[in-house]
Amino acid sequence: MANQQAYFFDMDGVLFDSMPHHAIAWEEVMKKHGLSFTARDCYINEGRTGESVIREAMWKARNRDARPDEIEQIYAEKSAYFHQLGEAYPIPNVADVLQYVQSCGHQIWVVTGSGQRTLIDSLHAVFPNIFQRDRMITAFDVTHGKPDPEPYLKAWERSGLPKEKCFVIENAPLGIRAGKAAGLTVYAVNTGILTREDLAQADQVFNSMTELLMFLKQ
Ligand code: CA
Repeated sequence: MANQQAYFFDMDGVLFDSMPHHAIAWEEVMKKHGLSFTARDCYINEGRTGESVIREAMWKARNRDARPDEIEQIYAEKSAYFHQLGEAYPIPNVADVLQYVQSCGHQIWVVTGSGQRTLIDSLHAVFPNIFQRDRMITAFDVTHGKPDPEPYLKAWERSGLPKEKCFVIENAPLGIRAGKAAGLTVYAVNTGILTREDLAQADQVFNSMTELLMFLKQ
């Protein structure tokens, strides 16, 4: 297809509204361990590993590094709490964006730091006939996660398209950084509690998927 484009969708906060659950789980478990980690900290740090956020919170609260057993314990508690909160709903109107992009004949990719092996099944269940197994870049495909450009560079290479025809859809500062470092156009959709300024590194910032859809249809 001569005019084909590729859209690289991030997952948490772009396809699924999972960030509120992450924020609740982190805030509660950190508090229990005498550490401070607000919902805003969670959104700003989205994409960083659990280990690195625990270590930073420990430096802030007790001016020392976290021990490996502490990191393991806190992360296990956070994961258990997160799963207790149940499955996240899709981001409002993202299905309309996906359907529109598909109807144009463009490529749809998922580029996520998530390492869930059942990811493709969850995607098929919520967004039927949109995603393909060979158009996914997950934690298993890269050495360096976001904000490193590697995940988006991999998607770009596999798309076979020039960079100016590839578009990143992100919701988080570190993901935006990764897309820009890969030399791609980044559209940020503010689906959480951050301000427009937090997302200002993107080429365009939208307040909702509906705004993004209107822009794409222009
Ligand atoms: Ca995200």
